Amino acid sequence: MKMKSFALFLGGALCALPAAVAMGQSASLPASHVTSHGMGHGGGLINVMLLDGQSAGAFHNWKLTTPILKKELEETGLFSVTVVTAPTSDQDFSDFEPNLDNYRAIVMNYDAPDWPAAMRERFEKYVNGGGGLVIVHAADNAFPNWAAFNEMAGVGGWRNRTEGAGPYWYFKDGKLVSDPTPGPAGQHGARLPFQVKTRQPEHPIMRGLPPVWMHYPDELYGKLRGPGKNMTVLATAYSDEKNKGSGHDEPMLMVLHYGKGRVFHTVMGHDAAALSCVGFMTTFQRGTEWAATNRVTQKVPATFPTATTVSYRVDIQEMDPDMLKGASDPIRGEAKAASTASAGAPQH
Ligand code: ZN
Repeated sequence: MKMKSFALFLGGALCALPAAVAMGQSASLPASHVTSHGMGHGGGLINVMLLDGQSAGAFHNWKLTTPILKKELEETGLFSVTVVTAPTSDQDFSDFEPNLDNYRAIVMNYDAPDWPAAMRERFEKYVNGGGGLVIVHAADNAFPNWAAFNEMAGVGGWRNRTEGAGPYWYFKDGKLVSDPTPGPAGQHGARLPFQVKTRQPEHPIMRGLPPVWMHYPDELYGKLRGPGKNMTVLATAYSDEKNKGSGHDEPMLMVLHYGKGRVFHTVMGHDAAALSCVGFMTTFQRGTEWAATNRVTQKVPATFPTATTVSYRVDIQEMDPDMLKGASDPIRGEAKAASTASAGAPQH
């Protein structure tokens, strides 16, 4: 497998469009593989449902990102992943009855405005009873009016959320604070590399990760709002005002408890480029194991990004045919990425 890493100079990275991202030395790291961690005692794989079928707008190509998320989970050797594709919200749900109890965790690559009451009740019962839940990126845009889901996610954005969804949560002076000032929920700037800062180094998902690491270009979600109940923020990223940001340290990785259920919420992972980041992959793989089993047995790969160096998987990026043409890679397709970013489209 090809592994790439680039040294990125943070000043340049945060205040410039992707075309101007400074690339210093580039080096190919040894091809090590993040596989076969085994299950330990008892054997057997952890059954995970990967839920997809809808995502608002054309900005999230779930048909393309689902196979990436599935591959990332399965190559740990820990999970058996079943993709469950829901009808779209304007379709008939009467035949959609996945047996949630078959799964230790549900991974949501899914963003819909609403669900029928029966489906909501089953989902609530599942998580409340101890089922794991993993929320990836725009899945936290889903279900703005479903109180229990927003409690599971802790925070969310867009879909007309305002202060009614809850306060705005961010980090200030090393602590999580909530700001009740009225306003919309959800924002991001152009997709650039950014640093992710560990806030709970002793949490099983974070143990062994560097205190700061550079994420591959992605949307840096900010101004998310929600109940924030039973929520622990594991990592944050600074949302720079120079890139339409909030000027605050925004939650990037969170864990929550809902009843007996554990929730892992990552706001990262917009597209194949973001999903190819070894930092995204590692936290996603570990977070899913934690949500499903309450433990993490996976080691941190030697190729994990550093504070100044991104590290990403070429084979993952190439699962997006557009990235093969360089059309949507923020580093390799600089010019096109920059024009997309400046178009000001309401992507999330
Ligand atoms: Zn997005």
